[in-house]
Amino acid sequence: MSENENIFDVLIIGGGPAGLTAGLYAARARMKCVLLEKMMMGGQIATTEMVDNYPGFPEGIAGAQIGPLFEAQAKRFGLEVRQFQEGLKVERRDAGFLVTCVNHDELFCKSLIIASGSGWTPLGIPGEERLKGAGVSYCATCDGAFFRDLELAVIGGGNSAVEEAMFLTKFASKVYIIHRRDQLRAEKIVQEKAFANPKIEFVWSHVPLEIVGEKEVEGVRVKNLKNDEERLLPVAGAFIYVGMKADSEIVKNLVEMDEQGYIKASEDTKTSCPGLFAAGDVRQKPLRQVATAIADGATAAIMAEKYIDQ
Ligand code: NAP
Repeated sequence: MSENENIFDVLIIGGGPAGLTAGLYAARARMKCVLLEKMMMGGQIATTEMVDNYPGFPEGIAGAQIGPLFEAQAKRFGLEVRQFQEGLKVERRDAGFLVTCVNHDELFCKSLIIASGSGWTPLGIPGEERLKGAGVSYCATCDGAFFRDLELAVIGGGNSAVEEAMFLTKFASKVYIIHRRDQLRAEKIVQEKAFANPKIEFVWSHVPLEIVGEKEVEGVRVKNLKNDEERLLPVAGAFIYVGMKADSEIVKNLVEMDEQGYIKASEDTKTSCPGLFAAGDVRQKPLRQVATAIADGATAAIMAEKYIDQ
């Protein structure tokens, strides 16, 4: 590979809806553009069974289909995608940024779009780390089928917890949703479906204290916040959905962030570092959806084009 092959107008980190949309717009603007994705195309949405709130798909669309569709569209206009490639370090250079990758490739770009999304927050209770992969999971679509006819616990009360609990009822005989309040955070339409699902039992106003089990999960010890009573829910798996944390470590020395690591950038996606744009879930924003991520991606690409032209 010649040195010139590693010099780009725009480099995009992250192959979710935000990054792939940025790639589509950058490619159509005839910028030399590369996108790095360390795992599956589609990012977090690829682990969602069905997406019902992305317009244009009246019957919904499988989360795993979104990434490949976006990718094919962006590639049609010339986006270069390097999958299973991870940026490790980003350094500011006079005329742009130097990105060092896991395989030691050094890529230079005039502007950088960080669309690295967010990852699951761990609960931080005893047993969680030790039993990860042995009944503790953060991905129902990946692991749900291992629990056919068994009882499971889902922890959390947001969209992720409730939607994934419903997905898990396809396999499990029963799913407990353990929530620390007596009201869900999830959208009303999601709540309605869950309340109507006979396999779901809500464990309101409880917090999990410990995931119990020798070699694999045997139960979740919970505490009732109203009377401090403790009990053991005998489940074979615990799926944890207590929120997300930004995947922004790679640019932490370059841009301003909030306490959770979300990058501060307004609707124009401009960060505190000129030439570096933040798109999608990694940006501080009020709503994290495919619809808002793609808006960011389009904006970031056009802002990058303007930045380079100037
Ligand atoms: P979230 O909306 O932040 O919800 C996290 C849930 O975990 C909340 O119910 C919270 O309780 C609970 N929680 C947090 N820390 C806890 C702790 N230490 N112990 C026990 N419970 C704890 O996270 P999310 O559901 O993963 O969603 C993340 C973002 O993606 C949201 O913006 C969401 O709307 C979006 N999303 C959208 C869809 C969709 O549109 N279909 C699907 C999935 C995700 P409290 O409610 O008491 O704070």
